Amino acid sequence: MTLSTRNKPYIIPEYNLTGALLPYLTCGLQYRYQNKGTLPPSMPIQLWFGNFIHGVMEEAFLRWNEMDWKDFPWDWKTQIRDIELEIDKRMRSRGLQPPANLFCPFKEGDEGLGLCPDHDHPHKLVASIRAEAAINTWGPHLFPLIDDSEVKLKGIRDMPHYQKGTSRSNYYGITGVIDVLSSVKMDEASDKNLIIKYLHNNPAFQYKLEKLEKPEYEIIVDYKGMKRPAVPSPSWDHHDWQVLTYSWLRSMQPESQPVLVGMLFYLNELSLFKEDLKELKKDVEEGKTDIKPYADDLENILKWNPHSKVPSLSDSLKKLRSVRIIPVDYDNQRRSLTEFDAVVGEIEESIISEVNGHGIQASWKANPDKRTCDACDFRTFCRESKTGKGFPTVP
Ligand SMILES: [Zn+2]
Repeated sequence: MTLSTRNKPYIIPEYNLTGALLPYLTCGLQYRYQNKGTLPPSMPIQLWFGNFIHGVMEEAFLRWNEMDWKDFPWDWKTQIRDIELEIDKRMRSRGLQPPANLFCPFKEGDEGLGLCPDHDHPHKLVASIRAEAAINTWGPHLFPLIDDSEVKLKGIRDMPHYQKGTSRSNYYGITGVIDVLSSVKMDEASDKNLIIKYLHNNPAFQYKLEKLEKPEYEIIVDYKGMKRPAVPSPSWDHHDWQVLTYSWLRSMQPESQPVLVGMLFYLNELSLFKEDLKELKKDVEEGKTDIKPYADDLENILKWNPHSKVPSLSDSLKKLRSVRIIPVDYDNQRRSLTEFDAVVGEIEESIISEVNGHGIQASWKANPDKRTCDACDFRTFCRESKTGKGFPTVP
């Protein structure tokens, strides 16, 4: 007699671009502790802030659209604070607690203190300062161009190095979320719109616009809770791949128009704190940035030392540095997809190695820079840690 055996459930592993692939590339070991551990839920500050600022921008757009909040600047206490609390509530329901040195979660009269300086809540801590700058700087220019917000992208690809019996599945899924700007909204916008001005000053965009066969096109947008990466740097390349992969996923949606470029908003550029300025200074000294400061900004950055107050930089520099335009074309798209396949292949290999009993630290690649370790919850026991053991610093 033969006993029937139950088949293993058929699952397709799904990789969210910003939630899985980019964190994995930041540090494989941190990604592993974060996602598949038996540890209590917590997440790297960088990832918390990235989620938070993304949620804040999406919610701000909805209120701009539906509640007719068309006049900027928005007031932090009466308008923006409520958006922050709403996003914090949603993130908590997914188990994502705000880092206490980054965000005041309390309302007026609350008894808690966290890391707030006193009971005079709400406090405008780092995350709030950045949320306010992001909304009030880019809201007036960006929101009128958005045709469709929070568009969900999804695609299926062949599993790299698929082996029957060993691989988890013969396919994997990629997901992501974007905002879409349309040519229709661009045509209607005011001639003072700064984003349109940046686009028209961009040679790649101009070239692609001239080559278009019909007038409709799209631009895809994503928000980053970080400073503009150095050029060259791994992050710089990863963001390139992200936009190109998103544009590929978008092009497969039937309602889409040709995507000419992708735009990333590096929102920390609008309010630089000490750690950001240290990096910016280094980028400038080493000639590793594509948007260079000049005149007073250059002087202020170069003469600044970490023991003195962070200098205020010009609005034009902050705005310019916070926007990155990435041209989309078929060859680059194909190259990015190959890169993503390779990364998924690496993650899947690490999972299989761990399942086969090789242990976490032996199975996962740790490749962090010091700043990643500084902000990492797991550094107290991680043998790869490049940092001391204190409270995680601000991203
Ligand atoms: Zn507070």
